[in-house]
Amino acid sequence: MSKEIPYKIYLEESELPKQWYNVRADMKNKPAPLLNPATHEPMTVDELSGVFCRELAEQELNTTDAYIDIPQEILDFYKMYRPAPLVRAYCLEKALGTPAKIYYKFEGNNTSGSHKLNSAIAQAYYAKKQGLKGVTTETGAGQWGTALSMACAYLGLDCKVYMVKVSYEQKPFRREVMRTYGADVTPSPSNTTNVGRAILEKFPGTTGSLGCAISEAVEVAVGTEGYRYVLGSVLSQVLLHQSIIGLETMAACDKYGIKPDTIIGCAGGGSNLGGLISPFMGRKLRGEADYEFIAVEPASCPSLTRGKYAYDFCDTGMVCPLAKMYTLGSGFIPSANHAGGLRYHGMSSVVSQLYDDGLITARSVEQTSVFAAAEQFARVEGILPAPESSHAIRVAIDEALKCKETGEEKTILFGLTGTGYFDMVAYQKYNDHEMSDYIPTDEEIAKSLANLPKF
Ligand SMILES: *Cc1c(COP(=O)(O)O)cnc(C)c1O
Repeated sequence: MSKEIPYKIYLEESELPKQWYNVRADMKNKPAPLLNPATHEPMTVDELSGVFCRELAEQELNTTDAYIDIPQEILDFYKMYRPAPLVRAYCLEKALGTPAKIYYKFEGNNTSGSHKLNSAIAQAYYAKKQGLKGVTTETGAGQWGTALSMACAYLGLDCKVYMVKVSYEQKPFRREVMRTYGADVTPSPSNTTNVGRAILEKFPGTTGSLGCAISEAVEVAVGTEGYRYVLGSVLSQVLLHQSIIGLETMAACDKYGIKPDTIIGCAGGGSNLGGLISPFMGRKLRGEADYEFIAVEPASCPSLTRGKYAYDFCDTGMVCPLAKMYTLGSGFIPSANHAGGLRYHGMSSVVSQLYDDGLITARSVEQTSVFAAAEQFARVEGILPAPESSHAIRVAIDEALKCKETGEEKTILFGLTGTGYFDMVAYQKYNDHEMSDYIPTDEEIAKSLANLPKF
């Protein structure tokens, strides 16, 4: 025990996880099933297989197998950028003057700049294995589209990305990275789909949304021979792939006798948080250990803290299955001044159920305080964090400062999901004191929730 804790803990190749962990197997209350939007019956593997490739459809509905083997080809790809380091934030602790011990799992050490590659390679692999020609997807901030482009290039698959128009225009370099990896990138809404044309007609000049880009990508996948649709978060299959984050973290903690008290993650669609906490949650669910879990979301897009737990559409065009989740309504779009990611209207059904069962807590934070935390972190730890990741940094710092007052020496662990090099316009706004906060009113949220499907 009590080995000297290195600044960075890297697992040996022989210690890396060879299976993903499916937390649904240990959940007493399973997440509610996806429903067919026409019949309101639970979706079957056959039905899902029209949209997703078969093996992923099976993973999506698998609530019983706790461990699922990671195919060797995926393990080989993971070796290009994993293990991800578990870093002891000695410099941040010192700067804060806290007795707390702070650790972060850094997922930004790859060209896509985030954890998304963990699921992109898995989804591309199963598509290739099924003999498909290509995949379609949407991307908002661009990290998912980049990760998927990299995975598709590696495996020789076509990749069509619908990129939310505002990001397409504001982040031209993200777009070029995707094109460099061979992806075909279309700003959404576009006139290449029925859904896109309908939205453009109804809202001329719209700058798009994730929900709309999803509808376009699904329409093209379903209508093109040899194509399927893939999604970078929210789905249970994505949480499963992202469990690699938590499994590596837990192995590193166990190796050095580190026992986290509080585990913090930012929550957009819930996949990075779900992946980080899954194996720890498994221990909690089996009564082997206890942890406090905190999901952190933007105050401008507060699905857990102010949304409703209900069945909702996953996309604007209402072509996807219905999912029971904490949601702000599928038409909810964060205010225009919202800078950094985490802008999806709903939350993973797994995270939603765990939250509803009181096993996870949630907090919302305002973006100026998020960027303040990002800068404080960058200046002492060196890494320039993604705005999304900085939501977790904010709460980790807040928790560490509480310990400074109480003298508590607790261990705080957070997920540092990525780097922010493509987010410098947002950093610029913050540095120029031009960034503002916006919190939606109760009326705005109620108005959006009034459009939840009724049945
Ligand atoms: C996509 C992304 C997130 C949000 O992840 P979810 O799994 O959807 O919650 C957080 N951080 C970074 C860097 C991302 O790219």
